[in-house]
Amino acid sequence: MPEEARFVRLIFAWIGLNRLSLREVCRRLQQAGCRTRSGTTRWWASTLHGMVENPAYTGTAMYGRFRAVEPKPRLRPIRNHPAHSSRPTTRVPVPNEDWVAVPVPALVDPAVAEAARAQLEENRRRKREQSRGPGWLLQGLVVCRRCGYAYYGKATPGLAECHRPGAFGYGAYRCIGSDGHRFDGKAVCTNRPVRSDRLERVVWTHIEAVFNDPQRIAHEYRRRLTDLASESQPDADVGEIERRIGALRRGVGRLIDGHADGVIDRVEFEPRVADLRARITQLEEHRNALAAASRPDAT
Ligand SMILES: [Zn+2]
Repeated sequence: MPEEARFVRLIFAWIGLNRLSLREVCRRLQQAGCRTRSGTTRWWASTLHGMVENPAYTGTAMYGRFRAVEPKPRLRPIRNHPAHSSRPTTRVPVPNEDWVAVPVPALVDPAVAEAARAQLEENRRRKREQSRGPGWLLQGLVVCRRCGYAYYGKATPGLAECHRPGAFGYGAYRCIGSDGHRFDGKAVCTNRPVRSDRLERVVWTHIEAVFNDPQRIAHEYRRRLTDLASESQPDADVGEIERRIGALRRGVGRLIDGHADGVIDRVEFEPRVADLRARITQLEEHRNALAAASRPDAT
């Protein structure tokens, strides 16, 4: 439709020729009530990125640029998203030579499109230069209790000037919900930013407390192993585990024979036996837990 084509041309010209920021382009499109292909009037920089990188606008539609794979496990759940999807939903790029090119009518002058692409590349380069340094240790890991959005790190010019050697970083962590510009001008959270050095020190104190308590680490480690084992082999029964323990014991026997015959020297022998024995112990624990759970009189 001609209206849509007009906006597509405008987007490329705003980015490539007028060198507007992607945020400014989003703002203008929203103001004009322009809709994305999915039908909303909310525009994101990532949508514009996708358009500029898409060769279909300059006359070559490419099929198979991405394929879907299983999503990687996340550090924490995303706000307002289901815990995890059973479908493969993560898009990964496919090598160029596997794309299928189909000629389509060009909407955008190739020179303008090239300028827009160069501008995005320039933005990326500038961002890389800015992001040198220690980075934000807790970005995305700290979640706001009030609104549920994550905290992100933001440098504060005033703080950067009082540079102290040995400090973690200078700036503050802000709740994403407290940024009005991300929510059509109205922040959804009133929590104040936290100075990064203070927050990092508090978190580090907690980490230190965990490190100084080996019992706690061992307990958590075993708990995760059991979780993992019960997740990956829901049908593993005691018999199957016995079989694996038997195989590992025979492995230990072979190592001992090899060592006695002088085939395996001591430096190699000891860690390998220790490793096998640790796995046997772990499986035995798992087997005992399973046996206890399946006993009808278990308390
Ligand atoms: Zn918040």
